[in-house]
Amino acid sequence: MVKRRVLPLAIVRAMIVGEEYWLSTFFHTPLFPRADLMMLDLLVVAVHPDDAELGAGGTIIKLARAGRKVGILDLTSGEPTPHGSETIRRAETDKASEILGISWRKNLGLPNRRLESTLENRHVLAGIFRQTRPRVILAPYWEDVHPDHVAASRLIDDARFWSKLSRSDIAGEPFYPPKLYCYYSIHLRIIERPSFVIDISNTLEEKLRVVAAYGSQFGHRSPDFPTGADDLRGRARYWGWAIQTGYGEPFISRETVGVRDFDALI
Ligand SMILES: [Zn+2]
Repeated sequence: MVKRRVLPLAIVRAMIVGEEYWLSTFFHTPLFPRADLMMLDLLVVAVHPDDAELGAGGTIIKLARAGRKVGILDLTSGEPTPHGSETIRRAETDKASEILGISWRKNLGLPNRRLESTLENRHVLAGIFRQTRPRVILAPYWEDVHPDHVAASRLIDDARFWSKLSRSDIAGEPFYPPKLYCYYSIHLRIIERPSFVIDISNTLEEKLRVVAAYGSQFGHRSPDFPTGADDLRGRARYWGWAIQTGYGEPFISRETVGVRDFDALI
């Protein structure tokens, strides 16, 4: 008799006082989502504003158009650059976010050019993962010529693990983001064989428009062929060719990639 009453009382108490801690740990998802939890379908983590757009812009637009909740976390302001300023970059980012149609975006304000996978940064990022609870994280590819990108890739992996730790002082409830894939940056001019390619044939033009919003970064290049847009289109066309469609965006993972059913294959 006594045993039968213990579990229901614990659940009722969790609902009333918001203590979903042990339940969420068991089910890997909150049973009673709170208003401050984003529950994103996709969180793209980028070092600099425009990284997410360059590496995964077509995919972001595709998901947002399909009604999915997509967020972007920029780790740094990206400044200084030759033609930018913090104010200019913020305005460009707002414009890009509007075109993307995303649900959430934040800049963590970590130091550009000096980004490191420190314990302190890992702690903060783990808190963001707990707040946004993304089903999928997109991170920069772990191999790059840009040291900030390499550091970010390591940092995101580590923060993902810390996000699930119980009995810690990290803000929010423990949560392990179930999937993490990497997008490629434009700095390393070699793209290792991707784990999968997403068809962005219907969103490539919009992606080019989003990238063009970053005028301080791409508006000062020569208008002669090949322009920055030519480069993006050429790479997207190659990956589209590789999967027998128009345009594609490649992603890579250390983990095995599953598909829900046969029709997901193209
Ligand atoms: Zn970058």
